[in-house]
Amino acid sequence: MWLAALSLLLTAPAGAIAGPTGEAPGPRPSPEPGGTKSACAIASSSRPIPLPAGALLLAPDVGAEHPSGDYRQRLSRTTLGWPRLDRWCVWLEPVSSAGPAALWEQRWWQATRQALQHWQALLPIELVADPAAAQIRLHRRRPPRQYGADGRLRASHGRATLQLLEVSRDGSPRLEPSVEVLLSPGQGSEATALHELGHAFGLWGHSEQAADAMAAVPGAVPVLALSPRDRATVRWLYGQPTPFGQQP
Ligand SMILES: [Zn+2]
Repeated sequence: MWLAALSLLLTAPAGAIAGPTGEAPGPRPSPEPGGTKSACAIASSSRPIPLPAGALLLAPDVGAEHPSGDYRQRLSRTTLGWPRLDRWCVWLEPVSSAGPAALWEQRWWQATRQALQHWQALLPIELVADPAAAQIRLHRRRPPRQYGADGRLRASHGRATLQLLEVSRDGSPRLEPSVEVLLSPGQGSEATALHELGHAFGLWGHSEQAADAMAAVPGAVPVLALSPRDRATVRWLYGQPTPFGQQP
């Protein structure tokens, strides 16, 4: 499909399961107060935006490292502009609260929720109960294997796929990035979730340093929090103009 986007793979290191936190995993996230109504209203319609020659993401203009020490030069923007919103609505797949699978499902939910909290400290993010109200949907599912550049099938623990949509919410149309994130139910899900969420929030590229959540190649130690370079890159990205969130 022409909107099939950049698929980014990250193999999460083993042993990165989230420890217990103060937040009890629930069967489903409840919507958080304080959101503007229109940003997270249920979409009454949505359609893919036709793009020239099917191009979605432009190749980054990778030059010398930026003096500020972030990795802005490694980010791709879409043919329409930087894929960021002033406010994000995120749907997290509900999990069972009872039954034989509940323990594993709740571990996944807790690890994903933990990763999301790191991004919530930086960006206005609201959890929503209806996937039609969200621009980012997190699914508890192992990504299908994909062929790598070497022609071999590769497995991954997480994958984020971007589309660009014209969405009508509360009666007014607006351009939105729309991201499906598949996160494997297995171990190491917190580091994977932190990384894939970075793509979803607009960091379509990879850092060259293993200590960053958006590292192209993960280091020996799982990255469970955003590095100063991750945060600086986000701050730069969210200072850029964008057509997303506006009327087409
Ligand atoms: Zn990635």
